[in-house]
Parts: sequence; structure tokens; C-alpha cells
Amino acid sequence: MTEYNAPSNIAKPGGVIGILGGGQLARMLAMAAAQIGHKTHIFCPDARCPAADVCATITNAPYTDEAALRQFAKTVDVVTYEFENVPAETVSFLTECGAIVRPGARALEKAQDRLHEKDFLNQIGVATAAYHGVDDLHSLEAGLAKVGRPAILKTRRLGYDGKGQTTLTDSDQDLPGAYDKAIQFAWDEVGAAPSILEGFVPFQCEISIIGARSADGDIRLYDPVENVHRSGILKTSTVPTAITEATAQKAAAIASSILSALDYVGVIGVEFFVLSNGELIVNEFAPRVHNSGHWTSDACAISQFEQHIRAVAGWPLGDPARHSDAVMENLIGSEAAAWQSLAAEPNACLHLYGKSEARPDRKMGHVTRIS
Ligand code: AMP
Repeated sequence: MTEYNAPSNIAKPGGVIGILGGGQLARMLAMAAAQIGHKTHIFCPDARCPAADVCATITNAPYTDEAALRQFAKTVDVVTYEFENVPAETVSFLTECGAIVRPGARALEKAQDRLHEKDFLNQIGVATAAYHGVDDLHSLEAGLAKVGRPAILKTRRLGYDGKGQTTLTDSDQDLPGAYDKAIQFAWDEVGAAPSILEGFVPFQCEISIIGARSADGDIRLYDPVENVHRSGILKTSTVPTAITEATAQKAAAIASSILSALDYVGVIGVEFFVLSNGELIVNEFAPRVHNSGHWTSDACAISQFEQHIRAVAGWPLGDPARHSDAVMENLIGSEAAAWQSLAAEPNACLHLYGKSEARPDRKMGHVTRIS
């Protein structure tokens, strides 16, 4: 263990940051940690994960393997995670073993369950889409009566990149018997799992804010970015956005209030819908570095990845100011095969995640074009 200087000073240069998960986010976190002198210990069931190429140590074991978790806890100064679906039991067990886990269990618990997340946001005065918890066909019908159509049915847990969701449109009602069939179909689509029905938000655009909070409560926010999705997967993030300064300030205030209410330590991604009148609705937040913050690696002095490592390590946060305009484009499936022409493009910063198999919908890398 590294010697402690002050309660918030957890990992000095040379310290070890434990990361649960070994995907591309862990890979980019590990590279940022190395830049400021830390080593990383990845805990991931998959030996061939993207972070394996760049970390100091890797443990390949299931997240439920207590012996492996106990050993992992002994070797690290602080633990963080790269995805919000880390089992809550894994985090409690690591905490029992004496590990400090950042962001803490509270943020994880809210972000893992869309219903708890929306309840929490509303409790702290943050507007969301109208919603209703769904446990069966009866509550689905009650939800439709409450939120209207079109509506989106989403599983409460384990959904990502538009997976585990289905839309109920107006046209379902036109034919005799079609209404019941559509409800049954939607319920089957989400695997009859505990779900949430959300009213469709007629947004003008989608934005997100990447923010960070340090152990001593300092908050730093990156500029908002405009996001465009394709088939439920983020395609591009563009900064600066066309939103007004007033809307940007509102988004910043909301992101800050979420960070404070969660007593959060680390980087968070908050996704918003922007309405035509400039009002904001929060879609969701991710308690981790976020795909819509990848541009910060090339357009800011301190990337979201370094910022997260600084926060969880108990360091002062860095300056999130942007020095360039940027458009980040995800390279999905076969798109990364164009690496040669992308590498030859001026002002294009290419990031490839080292994944050997390019499955459709799989994020293989991204390119950030700066100007
Ligand atoms: P999510 O998995 O909740 O992030 O949803 C993925 C994408 O689906 C969002 O980025 C939106 O483009 C769209 N979407 C999700 N929920 C809603 C909603 N309530 N109203 C309109 N569009 C939505």
C-alpha cells in the first residue's frame, strides 16, 4: 500500500489503480494512468480484453470469485470500474476487504436501475421523461395510460446502446386486436423483465456533459457536446454545440447537482434531451468515463480518462478547458477497416481498441477530427 499523506491523497505516482472491467474504457484509463505514473491492475473475466495490452497486471476471474477479489484488493490503492453493470455484490465485497471503491456504491446503485435513477433525479429536482415502472402486462397498460404514445419500454437493468428497449407507436392501435398484440409484443421484446415505460421526448437534439468531482468536492465540467445516435449507438459527438449559452449553463448546473447529490468521486457522463424551447430533460447518467467524452483526449489538455484517474486517486482535478473544436466519430464494426485512410487524414486522431473480431455494432475504435 502507498503511504497516505492526507485522507484524500490515495495514490501517489507509482500507486496502483484497480479497474473492474477490461474493455476500451479500461484500456484508455490505463493509458492515462500510466501517463501520470500509476500502474493499473485490471480485473476482467476475459483474458483477451482490450485493456490487457496496456495494463501492468491483470486478473482473469469472474466478478463473483471472492478469493480473486480479495487478492486484487490487497494489491491496489483504490478501485474504480469502467462499466456500471459491475455486480453490486462485487463492490460490497471489495469494500469489506478494505478497498476504497470510487465512484461509490450509491452512484452505482442508481445508475444500474433505470427506475431508481429516474426516481433519484426527480427527487433532486431534475426533469426526466414521464415514466412508469412495469412488472407485467397490467402495469404496462397503466403506464401507457399515464405517459401516452409513442412510448419506449426499456429494461430497468443491463440495457446499453439501445439494447433491451422497444417503442410503442400510435399506429399499433389502428387494427382490431392490434393494441393487445402490440403490448404483448413489447413485453416479449424486453424479455418480460422488470422494465420502465418512458414517454417519448420530442427532442431537438441530444447533448451530454462530462463532469468530474474530486474527493474534496471540487467540480470541473467539460464543454457540452452534441450527440447523434445511429441504431441506438452513439455515432458522433460534436463540440462546440449549437445550444444557447443559457441552455449550456442549465446543463452544467444540473450535472453539478447530480455530482454533489451522489457525493460522487470520479468522472460522470450526463445525457440530456434538448427541447425546442431550450428546456432540458435528463435521459440518464453513466457513473464512469463516457463515449461522448472521448474527444477530450485530443481537444483538451486533460482528458476525461486522466481526470477520472486524478479524481479516484485523490489528486487535484485538471483544467477541462478545450483548446480545439472536435468531432468524434465511433468506428463501428467494419468501419475500422478504413484505418489506413483515417491514419492518413490530417487533423484526425485515430484510436483503435485492439479488438481482433469486428462484429456488427461492436465499437472497434474512434476518430476525433480536430480543428
Ligand atoms: P438510452 O439507452 O436510454 O440511452 O437510449 C438510447 C437512445 O434512444 C437515446 O440516446 C435517444 O436517442 C433514444 N431515446 C431513449 N429514450 C428516449 C425517450 N424517452 N424519448 C425519445 N428518445 C429516446
